[in-house]
Amino acid sequence: MTIDLRSDTVTKPTPEMLEVMMSAKVGDDVYKEDPTVNELEEKIAHMFGKEKALFFPTGSMANQAAIKLHTNPGEQVICDKYAHIYNYEGGGASFNSGVSCKLIDGHRGMFTAEQVLNSINPPDFYHSPLSSLVAVENTTNKGGGACWDFEEIKKIKSICDEHNLGYHLDGARLWNSLIAKNETSLQYGQLFNTISVCLSKGLGCPMGSVLVGDNKFMDRAIRIRKIFGGGMRQVGYLAAAGIYALDNHINRLKNDHEKAQEIGGMMDSLSQIKRVEPIETNIVIFELHGHVDEANFINKLSSHDIHIISMGSGKLRMVTHLNYTDSMHDKLLSLVSQM
Ligand SMILES: *Cc1c(COP(=O)(O)O)cnc(C)c1O
Repeated sequence: MTIDLRSDTVTKPTPEMLEVMMSAKVGDDVYKEDPTVNELEEKIAHMFGKEKALFFPTGSMANQAAIKLHTNPGEQVICDKYAHIYNYEGGGASFNSGVSCKLIDGHRGMFTAEQVLNSINPPDFYHSPLSSLVAVENTTNKGGGACWDFEEIKKIKSICDEHNLGYHLDGARLWNSLIAKNETSLQYGQLFNTISVCLSKGLGCPMGSVLVGDNKFMDRAIRIRKIFGGGMRQVGYLAAAGIYALDNHINRLKNDHEKAQEIGGMMDSLSQIKRVEPIETNIVIFELHGHVDEANFINKLSSHDIHIISMGSGKLRMVTHLNYTDSMHDKLLSLVSQM
């Protein structure tokens, strides 16, 4: 039994998901003639109370398109130093949009309205880049699945309005926050200009992300997706997986969160482990004591067919997901507690 906790992207479609994929009605989505893609886009737009949604092959492409929508070359995006758009999208912000990032030194990937205010360059001071977009990530990936305080997100919205800044949410794991904090997609839709959500992480689809926003922003999104090479044809087969996941795989995320809590609780009592970061959703990040060799620790786990990853700077990560079953969980808890 292989236990793969490297990421929640390692999931495979369930038999039920495969079944709806196989029977999907499809057409050429470049002509907007794929009924299942259209249905997925309408469903997500409705969930967020927005006018338009667009299906993307990846979350990175959806975020990059959003940056392009909100900025001109030479301008600046305000985001956290841990942000996925800055660290893990291959430098796309500068490559695709010609923008720089003003990094906020936040806490677990999150920052305050005051920090945003202090990061805005004066618009008439032409020596510095024009600030044009604030990007928030919820839950935070490098921040260990932490969830934002919604009140802070609201405060930042007022600052964006006052200073004429776009407001984008990288919601790759927004579903986890909705479940953990009992929030709604509508409340996020009311604040952000654009939101990207992932179908291929906690929700267990083979691929796909969706960017949602009002027509004012989204009218250009389809052109940008085409320029990025993301126009797709009969992808209703994949959109069908997305529709199925939205209906069936959101509420079960609490299961992943409970398991992550239990793993964290057990790890906390291990002598090799110095610290487990607070667990709010499905990500467990922990540090080993200085005398414990990281490679040895990871290898010992993999000799039991348990796979985790290093995040660098002494931090290790485990992520629970749809394919991490109860029996895997029992095996993990009993094996690791004896290490
Ligand atoms: C995974 C992830 C993305 C998108 O990643 P892709 O692999 O391009 O789909 C974007 N933002 C965050 C925070 C993520 O964790």
